[in-house]
Amino acid sequence: MTIALAVSDLKKTYSGGFEALKGISFQVQSGDFMALLGPNGAGKSTTIGIISSLVNKSSGTVSIYGQDIDRDFAAAKMNIGIVPQEFNFNQFEKVGDILRTQAGYFGIDQKTAAERAEKYLKLLGLWDKRDDRSRMLSGGMKRRLMIARALVHEPKLLVLDEPTAGVDIELRRSMWSFLQQLNKQGTTIILTTHYLEEAEHLCRSIAIIDHGQIIEQCSMKAFLARLDKETFVLDLGQDI
Ligand code: ADP
Ligand code: MG
Repeated sequence: MTIALAVSDLKKTYSGGFEALKGISFQVQSGDFMALLGPNGAGKSTTIGIISSLVNKSSGTVSIYGQDIDRDFAAAKMNIGIVPQEFNFNQFEKVGDILRTQAGYFGIDQKTAAERAEKYLKLLGLWDKRDDRSRMLSGGMKRRLMIARALVHEPKLLVLDEPTAGVDIELRRSMWSFLQQLNKQGTTIILTTHYLEEAEHLCRSIAIIDHGQIIEQCSMKAFLARLDKETFVLDLGQDI
């Protein structure tokens, strides 16, 4: 089996001295759809930030399809698409340009970039917004734009940080079916969430993070069976 993502003994202490990750390790098989489930403050975004090279780690290693994110940064970044938790667009850039600019970061030629922008904006239902500035979009549209932007270089691994938080139920369902389709077509997906229901609906495997530690990693099936037997106490806070 090919390993899409390998995280090994990852530690992060923020500058104020807070230890957000206390040495986490987990692996994701190629083709998997994995949930990283945990309550607010558990360390999900810190983990995703490090995987996407936006946050510096204190120690540990991350490799994406066998490429170490420090040693083989250029190769590793080609294989991963990131949907951050917070919107981080240039407010004044037009929707179509955001995708073309992103494609440029990956060395994609202009003609292909234009084709990819059209393909992914259409897939995410944003083609008619292509000439609007991103600040004009609704929250749900911005969320979809982040997904389109993450896919423009057609990565093998897509990582989404709480993509459905604050999203209405209709959009949540359409995003779920979009992600399921994408996974069926071969994209490995990792999604962070604090909704067990979402993880259960979408994912084949699960890692649970709390207080900067992975407390469980297994198949969704095994996890749910254990929950049924009530031998596993899950305390993920009241949000769930
Ligand atoms: P989650 O995404 O699971 O809600 P985060 O990774 O965002 O959790 O945060 C994990 C912990 O690290 C939290 O206690 C949070 O307050 C802390 N933290 C996050 N970012 C910073 C930062 N830039 N500086 C200091 N502490 C931070
Ligand atoms: Mg977070």
